[in-house]
Amino acid sequence: MSVDTAGATKQESEVAHEAERRRTFAVISHPDAGKSTLTEALALHAAAISSAGAVHGKGDRKGVTSDWMDMEQDRGISITSAALRIDYDDRVLNLLDTPGHADFSEDTYRVLSAVDCAIMLLDSAKGLEPQTLKLFDVCRARKMPVITFVNKWDRPGREPLELLDEIEQRIGLRPTPLNWPVGIAGDFRGLIDRTSGTYTKMTRTPGGAQKAIEEVLDADRAAEVELDAWEQAQEEIELLEALGADFDHESFMAGESSPVLFGAALSNFGVGQLLDTIVGRAPAPSAKADDKDKPREVEKPFSGQVFKMQANMDKNHRDRMAFVRVSSGRFDRGMVLTHAPTGRPFATKYTQAVFGSDRSTIDTAYPGDVIALVNAHSLAVGDTLYDGPKVSFPPIPSFAPEHFVVARAVDAGKYKQFQRGIAQLDAEGVVQVLTSDVRGEQAPVLAAVGPLQFDVVKHRMEQEFRSPIEASPLEYSVARRTDAESAPTLHALSGAEVLRRRSDGELLVLVHNKWRLRVIERDNPSLFMEALLAGGVD
Ligand code: GDP
Repeated sequence: MSVDTAGATKQESEVAHEAERRRTFAVISHPDAGKSTLTEALALHAAAISSAGAVHGKGDRKGVTSDWMDMEQDRGISITSAALRIDYDDRVLNLLDTPGHADFSEDTYRVLSAVDCAIMLLDSAKGLEPQTLKLFDVCRARKMPVITFVNKWDRPGREPLELLDEIEQRIGLRPTPLNWPVGIAGDFRGLIDRTSGTYTKMTRTPGGAQKAIEEVLDADRAAEVELDAWEQAQEEIELLEALGADFDHESFMAGESSPVLFGAALSNFGVGQLLDTIVGRAPAPSAKADDKDKPREVEKPFSGQVFKMQANMDKNHRDRMAFVRVSSGRFDRGMVLTHAPTGRPFATKYTQAVFGSDRSTIDTAYPGDVIALVNAHSLAVGDTLYDGPKVSFPPIPSFAPEHFVVARAVDAGKYKQFQRGIAQLDAEGVVQVLTSDVRGEQAPVLAAVGPLQFDVVKHRMEQEFRSPIEASPLEYSVARRTDAESAPTLHALSGAEVLRRRSDGELLVLVHNKWRLRVIERDNPSLFMEALLAGGVD
């Protein structure tokens, strides 16, 4: 065996070991369900347990999310999306932030393409809310394992069995509770761990301090202390057993069943169990299928995919960053990678790990990690970067836009800036840019999943590209993929228009609404019209 081969083998086993230690996940929730609170609680709990104090950046309560919040205030809306690294129990947890705004769904979808597991966070009083439902659809389309955390159990809320029923009925995910609450929501006493049978009693600290005091009791003692509430919880647990609602690894991995945890992020209750569940049950990074459907094993040379682009994350660094999820191999800062779409080299001298706006330079990263490449002007969402023999991952699905505007430069003299800005926002995936001969390059159509994205475009076009725009809404709400053969007929119909998507050249037909679409489909069965994303998220 040559020295090189031995070296390569050593690196392969190092990479496999590092990948095994990692868990990369995101939290999906409706705004206000407690995502920021939970993120903070996870980081703080882990830091308190791991003496290394490993929350990158600062260790105090303020440190973890305040940077994100500052940034959100700066921009007026939550549009940041970064990764938080949490070291816990010899594991590395990468928590990818998903924008909380109901409107920034497209961004969130992309983040979901970069994780191996999702935490579905529910407010105990509200259950499944629209944003959660929509995001869950993405998880289902990707067959992604989902862990459910029912939050705010310290407050009056719904019956636990009723919540489980709702999860099963509305999203078809079989809930398998790992813990079970004693006492009703609002008069919450504690949690029974269904695996070990131990009972953790929660006592709130006097004076309204946030962290609850936890006390572990055995079953006999718990029965004496909690009386009727204990009895009731036992009856419910028997019912769960009768229903077979027990954790099942295979169906969890297939995205068919979901382990459920009850807790209260604000009082740090149940947060340790959630961490242990992520470490113990969520999958480590594994082989990802490339565009030829061939699995790229984690031990292979470096490969990664850009899942997010962001410019001007804070005012001190006016640049453009690409967030890359590492799929395989070891990343060393300074490596020269290949940009798959162009075959050009990409130097990675300036690479950062990003935690909020607190940037630290990283030297090494492994599968499951997120790296931020600075000055990444040549990169776009979905691009693959690799080392060694060529590999390319399939594009990240872009979601069916539902809102459309025509953009024009207010000042025709600034057309150059206008063009540059629109091209940039297109590459970042802030909006999709559609054009046609009829409309011309001066008046492209911008398409978005949520209308708030247009506000971001207006703001950035003015502030960043110095070309204020006018955006006039179009009366379309549905988009379908079509082809060159069907395009002329569709374009001639009333209530429909065909445009070309700039990023990939796809022809899209925009239609006023779903009813009009149905009529067109019924009257023209031979025309090609296809939903934009397989899996029904549309
Ligand atoms: P996000 O919009 O999902 O990030 O939600 P936040 O973390 O900002 O939380 C929304 C509100 O719910 C805040 O007022 C939190 O203090 C509160 N909250 C979060 N978790 C809990 C919890 O476990 N119990 C209670 N009572 N309130 C909570």
